[in-house]
Amino acid sequence: MTRLLIGVDLGGTNIRAAVATGEATHGPSVHRATPAAEGPDAVLAAVVDCVREAAGKGRCDGLAIGIPGPLDPVTGVVYEAPNLPGWHEVHARDVLAERLGCPVVVHNDASLAGFAEWMAGAGRGTRHFVFITASTGIGGALVLDGKLFDGAGRAGEIGHMPVGHDAPACAQGHPGCLEGSASGTAIAHAARAALKSGAASSLAGIDPAALDAHAVQQAADAGDELARRVFADAARALGRAIGGLVNELAPECVAIGGGLINAGELLFAPMREAIPELAFVEPLKRCRIVAAELGTDAGLVGAIAWAVRCFAG
Ligand SMILES: [Zn+2]
Repeated sequence: MTRLLIGVDLGGTNIRAAVATGEATHGPSVHRATPAAEGPDAVLAAVVDCVREAAGKGRCDGLAIGIPGPLDPVTGVVYEAPNLPGWHEVHARDVLAERLGCPVVVHNDASLAGFAEWMAGAGRGTRHFVFITASTGIGGALVLDGKLFDGAGRAGEIGHMPVGHDAPACAQGHPGCLEGSASGTAIAHAARAALKSGAASSLAGIDPAALDAHAVQQAADAGDELARRVFADAARALGRAIGGLVNELAPECVAIGGGLINAGELLFAPMREAIPELAFVEPLKRCRIVAAELGTDAGLVGAIAWAVRCFAG
């Protein structure tokens, strides 16, 4: 790389930055704890510190940063960030560009994770790719015709597609969206509701406040019927949503990432079974449905790849 380009993955707990060494490769990353509770100014100041440390004696020629929240990649304004208190209409791009004295692009963290999977992970070699990240919430990204697709703002909010009007609401209050049925939060919620209605389960011994998707997964792995059913219901909702996406977009690959994929076949088996409930046969035949490959590196690799895409010219 002749220009010094930097990618940053801003998370609710950690900031990671690194220098691009190729289209989707980077040098050693530097870390900071995210001072989330101190508000947007402190968080952006920590990002600036991190970028300067990554740049070393050099001067950053261009920065791409992934941010966990709804934002406008064109104006660089972050509307809000659920894991970053106080973020509301933050002009992140302009603030960072002014403090660092270099051009900056901001994008949603799931969009950049999807871009990374397309460039260097499960979707490499395709032109039409769908990425879904399923953990506490559900996010996603679309690469259509070889480009990260943003629509007229920031497309790819796969977690908020409708899956059935009688499903529980997500954290944004949508009745019956995918996130309300298939996220880690939804899995924990469904287990709590079943226990409250008197269902027998090894989960009954756990403090309801501590009952999360991981606990449900462990109980399911140990053979608990209720836990298996709760996971299968979530996986089925995810599978049906993927079936709809296959019909709509005819992608060559759908990759699922995020913490929930650690559940393995507990998630993938009922999910795969549910996809053909909605998907047409022909587009489904041409589509690989796979686990994402980059794990927690996807955010940083995506920011690197996006910096190169935007500034290497
Ligand atoms: Zn929703």
